[in-house]
Amino acid sequence: MPILKTTDSERLQEVLDDIADRIAGMSERGKVAQYIPELATVDLNQFGIAIAPIDGPLISAGDAGTLFSIQSISKVFSLTLALQQVGASLWQRVGREPSGDPFNSIVQLEHERGIPRNPFINPGAIIVADVLLEDRSSDEAVNDLLALCRELSDDNSIEVDASVAESEMRTGSRNRALAHFMQAEGNLNAPVEDVLSLYFRQCSIAMSCEQLALAGRFLAAAGQNPATGATVLSAQRARRVTALMMMCGSYDASGEFAFRVGLPAKSGVGGGILCIVPGIASVVAWSPGLDQKGNSHLASIAFQELVRATGWSIFGPST
Ligand code: GLU
Repeated sequence: MPILKTTDSERLQEVLDDIADRIAGMSERGKVAQYIPELATVDLNQFGIAIAPIDGPLISAGDAGTLFSIQSISKVFSLTLALQQVGASLWQRVGREPSGDPFNSIVQLEHERGIPRNPFINPGAIIVADVLLEDRSSDEAVNDLLALCRELSDDNSIEVDASVAESEMRTGSRNRALAHFMQAEGNLNAPVEDVLSLYFRQCSIAMSCEQLALAGRFLAAAGQNPATGATVLSAQRARRVTALMMMCGSYDASGEFAFRVGLPAKSGVGGGILCIVPGIASVVAWSPGLDQKGNSHLASIAFQELVRATGWSIFGPST
């Protein structure tokens, strides 16, 4: 099967419309995240998908313009900012291996003396947030993250959803425990509540599939923002962030996602999944119902269908 080109926008639109139609008819939709009260109220019957090719206009279907909570997908953008700021020294404080444990697990952290396995599990992202606070307040860091997302998606309307942030702040005991533990091990410098104020707000940024697909596009384009030509990360760093997405981006189902889809991905408990198709496009699918590992049930199915129809898996087309 030939690999579908993004210049064939008519065929791509048909593929997305077809996926959205089939998904609308599916009765098994997963379950919305319950542990963040504000996310538990989101309507399960929503699905959107958007493709941002590196060399052409957006293509989308379903609820691709609806805002949702990006949650852990924000970890891609906070990692990008931290790499811009401190470069490779970041890797002294956080590893680069898949964890094989749930995203909020504390067990491994104790064995490994407060050095989280990777920047995409919660303790790793909390360390990245701490790095961002080395030279600014948590309000400034939130503004810098918002500025990055706005610049990349060329949309100044992107904001933190204050009610989701407040909901996380109120119920975030587990993340507090992770942060305090890392502080006790000497791997967290700023006060725990400052770090969590940044971390909870970054997770509560609300974006649509279309905005998020544009924001991820630099990773498909060797670190450059295709809209402006600006370098967001060096090509080598962009490749490394993408490698981490492949190995660690879908919780403890990252192996399963690679097996079924074969694209670097970052998933969030708001039901979004950002996938990078290197050299081709950035793609976001969203549906709020999650499977048992915390990945969107229907967005995962959408990506399986997308790679089948386009041949975009980095491991080659299916037939
Ligand atoms: N804010 C969520 C938490 O810290 C993020 C979880 C996720 O999307 O993986 O629990």
